[in-house]
Amino acid sequence: MANPITIRSVRKTYGDFVALEGIDMDIAAGEFMTLLGPSGSGKTTLLMILAGFTRPDAGSIQVAGQEIVRTPPHKRDIGMVFQNYALFPHMDVAGNVAFPLKLRKVARAEIETRVRRALAQVQLESFIDRGVDQLSGGQRQRVALARALVFEPKIVLMDEPLSALDKKLREEMQIELKHLHDRLGMTTVYVTHDQREALTMSDRIAVMCKGAIRQLATPRDIYDRPADQFVADFIGESTFLPVEWDGRGGASLAGSAIASSNPQAAGKGRHFLLVRPEKLEFLNGAEDGYNRISGTVDEIIFQGEAVLVYVRIGDGNRLAVRKGTRQGVFTSLPEVGQTVTLGLHRDDTIIVPEM
Ligand code: ATP
Repeated sequence: MANPITIRSVRKTYGDFVALEGIDMDIAAGEFMTLLGPSGSGKTTLLMILAGFTRPDAGSIQVAGQEIVRTPPHKRDIGMVFQNYALFPHMDVAGNVAFPLKLRKVARAEIETRVRRALAQVQLESFIDRGVDQLSGGQRQRVALARALVFEPKIVLMDEPLSALDKKLREEMQIELKHLHDRLGMTTVYVTHDQREALTMSDRIAVMCKGAIRQLATPRDIYDRPADQFVADFIGESTFLPVEWDGRGGASLAGSAIASSNPQAAGKGRHFLLVRPEKLEFLNGAEDGYNRISGTVDEIIFQGEAVLVYVRIGDGNRLAVRKGTRQGVFTSLPEVGQTVTLGLHRDDTIIVPEM
């Protein structure tokens, strides 16, 4: 039900503009791979090359060992889902989902069975005779998904399929899509610029910047071991403090020593200490394993599920500490104006090179 994809040295230019350069990627059979990056980083271009709508200037793409760069889109056995659904407005749900099968000249009885099966997969069986103009955004996206799955492709490509939906529905659909992928097992390449969506759904994430891959790793490694400042900044909430890295395991931050068991550093010299709000603790004693940063509480912001305590530290930077708002938390927090010692565990102390 799934095919592996091997991408080698793919390059794409538009005139003088280099949209992709030196793209290498191995996507395992059945893997959920996400291309994540800011606008213009080349995600859609790479997806269109995989789909066959864009021809790369150079490089190779193999699916299950077969070179496909010159294979036209309809012969690639690849299903596609787009952001804007691209449904046919004059057809009902059944007509839309049946379309790829008609294109492939599948027999009528077989079409009916497969359309019902695809609609069942996305929980839309009872909508089979509806016009697509009578559907909600989420339902339209499900129809688009059923249409992509109906010919049981071994690869599915999705370009920001959930970005038109509101936050709550988008989050529900993320989990639903993930479950569908786990059930059907097709190799999936998914484009998004939403880091949380990428972390939630993917087996691995390729973080792209200016037509190149900055890091390709599992969601946890991308989050906890970002390759550089660009990746760290794009994923999660972070403050970067300039440090002098000794090239071995220590750094100095405004004169104080900082130890890291998780450096992503390259060579000696100026680097950045990455500090995330959920990794900071308030220390009262001599707890082991922590780097200590002292400062003064500047501001406290209540956010509902969490409270953010902003602490101004010696070098003038402000660090946020996030605490979940379970009972008792408010009495344990320091007050504005109070001097505190922040603790950042050595294992959470991430040192990254400048981007
Ligand atoms: P977004 O998140 O905004 O969709 P993206 O990461 O998908 O961005 P691409 O659509 O792949 O980015 O575009 C990469 C770069 O290539 C952009 O700078 C874009 O302007 C440029 N580009 C894409 N298609 C063309 C084209 N047909 N002609 C010229 N430039 C193009």
